[in-house]
Amino acid sequence: MSSVSPIQIPSRLPLLLTHEGVLLPGSTMRTSVDSARNLQLVRSRLLKGTSLQSTILGVIPNTPDPASDAQDLPPLHRIGTAALAVQVVGSNWPKPHYTLLITGLCRFQIVQVVKEKPYPVAEVEQLDRLEEFPNTCKTREELGELSEQFYKYAVQLVEMLDMSVPAVAKLRRLLDSLPREALPDILTSIIRTSNKEKLQILDAVSLEERFKMTIPLLVRQIEGLKLLQKTRKHKQDDDKRVIAIRPMRRITHVPGALADEDEDEDNDDIVMLEKKIRTSSMPEQAHKVCVKEIKRLKKMPQSMPEYALTRNYLELMVELPWNKSTTDRLDIRAARVLLDNDHYAMEKLKKRVLEYLAVRQLKNNLKGPILCFVGPPGVGKTSVGRSVAKTLGREFHRIALGGVCDQSDIRGHRRTYVGSMPGRIINGLKTVGVNNPVFLLDEVDKLGKSLQGDPAAALLEVLDPEQNHNFTDHYLNVAFDLSQVLFIATANTTATIPPALLDRMEIIQVPGYTQEEKIEIAHRHLIPKQLEQHGLTPQQIQIPQVTTLDIITRYTREAGVRSLDRKLGAICRAVAVKVAEGQHREAKLDRPDVAEGEGCKEHTLEDGKSDPVSDTTDLALPPEMPILIDFHALKDILGPPMYEMEVSERLSQPGVAIGLAWTPLGGEIMFVEASRMDGEGQLTLTGQLGNVMKESAHLAISWLRSNAKKYHLTNEKEKTGLIFLHQNLFSFLKASGSFDLLENTDIHLHFPAGAVTKDGPSAGVTIATCLASLFSGRLVRSDVAMTGEITLRGLVLPVGGIKDKVLAAHRAGLKRVIIPQRNEKDLEEIPANVRQDLSFITASCLDEVLNAAFDGGFTVKTRPGLLNSKL
Ligand code: ADP
Repeated sequence: MSSVSPIQIPSRLPLLLTHEGVLLPGSTMRTSVDSARNLQLVRSRLLKGTSLQSTILGVIPNTPDPASDAQDLPPLHRIGTAALAVQVVGSNWPKPHYTLLITGLCRFQIVQVVKEKPYPVAEVEQLDRLEEFPNTCKTREELGELSEQFYKYAVQLVEMLDMSVPAVAKLRRLLDSLPREALPDILTSIIRTSNKEKLQILDAVSLEERFKMTIPLLVRQIEGLKLLQKTRKHKQDDDKRVIAIRPMRRITHVPGALADEDEDEDNDDIVMLEKKIRTSSMPEQAHKVCVKEIKRLKKMPQSMPEYALTRNYLELMVELPWNKSTTDRLDIRAARVLLDNDHYAMEKLKKRVLEYLAVRQLKNNLKGPILCFVGPPGVGKTSVGRSVAKTLGREFHRIALGGVCDQSDIRGHRRTYVGSMPGRIINGLKTVGVNNPVFLLDEVDKLGKSLQGDPAAALLEVLDPEQNHNFTDHYLNVAFDLSQVLFIATANTTATIPPALLDRMEIIQVPGYTQEEKIEIAHRHLIPKQLEQHGLTPQQIQIPQVTTLDIITRYTREAGVRSLDRKLGAICRAVAVKVAEGQHREAKLDRPDVAEGEGCKEHTLEDGKSDPVSDTTDLALPPEMPILIDFHALKDILGPPMYEMEVSERLSQPGVAIGLAWTPLGGEIMFVEASRMDGEGQLTLTGQLGNVMKESAHLAISWLRSNAKKYHLTNEKEKTGLIFLHQNLFSFLKASGSFDLLENTDIHLHFPAGAVTKDGPSAGVTIATCLASLFSGRLVRSDVAMTGEITLRGLVLPVGGIKDKVLAAHRAGLKRVIIPQRNEKDLEEIPANVRQDLSFITASCLDEVLNAAFDGGFTVKTRPGLLNSKL
């Protein structure tokens, strides 16, 4: 028997009267303190006292409800447990109370209550004197047998519990290390016992009695556990059976065995993929990556999100045309014929494309410059690109770059992102299935920039012949050779193409078309194409050239032919309805004429006459006539003309002039209007204007102010009654030299039709002319348009875009165009027929401009006459 360290408790103990639970020696219990006596005890003994002794309390169980012990001390249980207060936790809510953690030390018996208030204190006698136990025992053997029996049951009970729980394992160890005499109390507090049973154990002061009383409790607990385990086992067996069935199903999924259809398919796919990787002709580096990835894929469960990612990646890798290409057809003569057949005019562009192809024929290496076609919309840039692919016998793919502002659009996303995919270049290659297609990079001038990087920078690598043989898309993560791809770019303007990108490309300007060119394009290409698309034949519809001209001048205003094409489409649709209706009515006469390509009216009639069968059957109805589209039909189909404003109407007042502007959409005529009002010499500018244009306006005004005397310009209001006074005043001011055009006058300059921002210096001459008209009161010629930059001294400097501007003037039906003298050389580019229709005035200073812009020149003498006429 192990020796027990003696516990000596004080002879007087403060009493903690508990209502619920019984604390046995050797166990720990949490108890709530809320009665007045107990609260006092905690406050004065535990919270104030500092010695160990002050934390020893006498815990008396089974006292009546503390609420009822208001005054007198209730009858106390004679036997209690001396306890050590280990922890005090206080709270004020919902009412002041403490929670005590107490550990039982030994039994005691109340000898006498010595004090009742504020909390009871009693003289006590310690009952458990464990060290004396062997001597007081009747026979050591007897107790030994009892304790052995108890120990056996205790061990049996603990071993029935789950030994993997640390507390249970510890309890098992305690059974061996603790003195046997302490075990009944400890086990009683652990096993399921009622308060009454615990109280009986507490009262069992004799050890023998205690053992005897606890053994049945242990046995009861063991039986209970046995019963519980039995029922649990049933349940567990069921569970195990379920678990056992599942793995059986999984095992059947092993390849080769009888398998679920889906899984089988997946496995087949992987085998196929593996085979494709083995047989594909991808470069070694890419092959290595694929082999690695397929190994990973095989190990991956299909439910993993990465499974799908890896599989998609591998599928793309095997699909890419690493080594697949088409053979180029390099016949320059055939190419020329094809380009001529497909495209009317565009001589400069076609010439450059043929040069490019010729070099390609002589030197089988495509490290040439990247061609970039720059011009207004609808002039055929894209379709020339397509023709280049056709002549070479290559695949064609268009990549629209307008609005692209994320560099991963070009270079792909890294595979770490969910939803990652390759960039447009790699995607395009996958689509065409060969590694030498023609890629048309459409609208490079409309690339955006954003936080996601600069796509233009990504394009640099793609377009650089020195770098693009190992272009690495982020998604692929292996290099792909782009050197065989023929890149052609298109743009509306070079102004917004990043300089580094511009540097990699050879710019070929594609200007807008003249009216005559448009008519030719319409009749050679657009109309036949539209007829075919609408299932019409030339025998059913006829569009004469005058009608085409009407559409061009009155229904469209563009540099290219896209709107024209759309209008022709609208006409064809309307005619298709008529034809379909007619066919319905004359179903029996529906005998399609075979003459193709030469659909003229006479021809059809002739055919009709020469055919004896139709002679007999068509007696009732004449042979079908083509529907002729004249101006009335045009009005019916397209509505009233959209652009019919007479230019001369707008020039019926002083202070209006026509300028010529260049925009990315082609040349445009631009009306500049000016008016004046009383004010303080302020200049107001309206319309969508850039800064350079504003500067031009200031320059023009300054020049006019300084030359006001020379040209007899005045800011006077033309009030008839005051005219003599004005004349006198004007001469006086002139003489004194203090006259200023802006004195007491505000000027408003307006540039109408301004949805598109206009900027550039070329409006200088127009603004000066317009203001000269305003201050002189004379009308500008209604058939004259002008362009040119001005200086403060009145010189006229050259400007760009002359061809487009002249074409715009021609489109608008103007007759005279004033251009800077140094732009004379640009007139050579203008088609002869346009040059014939227009008269060109070249000017080197504003004097010359004004003389050409006003009828009879702009001279000093005209003023009195003008004033008379105004009267
Ligand atoms: P862009 O790319 O310059 O905006 P597109 O190439 O899309 O213009 O051309 C628009 C339409 O005009 C196409 O149907 C094209 O065939 C036609 N087209 C333009 N220019 C010509 C031309 N010179 N000859 C024949 N068709 C032309």
